[in-house]
Amino acid sequence: MPEIVFVGRSNVGKSTLFSELFGVRVRRGKRPGTTIKPNRITFKDLVVTDLPGFGYIAGVSREFNERVKDFVVRYIEENADRIIAAVQVIDAKSFLEIVERWEKRGLIPVDVEMYDFLNEFGFDVLVAANKMDKVKDRDATLNGIVEKLGMHPPWYLWKHVVYPISAKRGEVDNLREGLKKVFVKNKRHDLVPVLKGRQKR
Ligand code: GDP
Repeated sequence: MPEIVFVGRSNVGKSTLFSELFGVRVRRGKRPGTTIKPNRITFKDLVVTDLPGFGYIAGVSREFNERVKDFVVRYIEENADRIIAAVQVIDAKSFLEIVERWEKRGLIPVDVEMYDFLNEFGFDVLVAANKMDKVKDRDATLNGIVEKLGMHPPWYLWKHVVYPISAKRGEVDNLREGLKKVFVKNKRHDLVPVLKGRQKR
């Protein structure tokens, strides 16, 4: 069974993206900080997994955050041989600010650490730079993001890795195309229809 996992900090828009791409509403967790459980949806034999959001959220202890991160890491290690792609969702609006704050304290930002971790396996890693509708200087922001993740700007050389999107506005066509390529590359053309187009209004 092939699997696609979605990872990201809390509140980056993972659930919004998930329903936009697959046309299915994932169960929104109760209050953050109470359960650590992935949401899994199956289409034919494809498993799509929304892993719990990690990273600091107000009202959630540091210890709980560590447990969530450990859970995500262990889940990926244990399922790596069937994972065909990981979508790492980031909040493009706040990514650079958060990363710089961590770096100033001499720490490795959790998003950078996660991106490096995901790339240790053989599967494709797609970074969904979400909330682009809130970003003013698009190129500068995206250049900063690719640079912090260890790639050389300009960002558009990395369009197959970093996908600027706005899940809320339904602007996710580029990412949908990227996922289609993953299916085709894995000789699973039959899975392309699981990616729903935006409903016409
Ligand atoms: P999750 O915790 O990562 O699953 O995040 P959610 O999908 O619950 O979204 C968190 C918040 O961000 C909600 O208020 C969403 O409406 C908002 N959001 C999600 N995607 C976007 C986007 O593309 N642009 C903007 N401006 N807000 C978004």
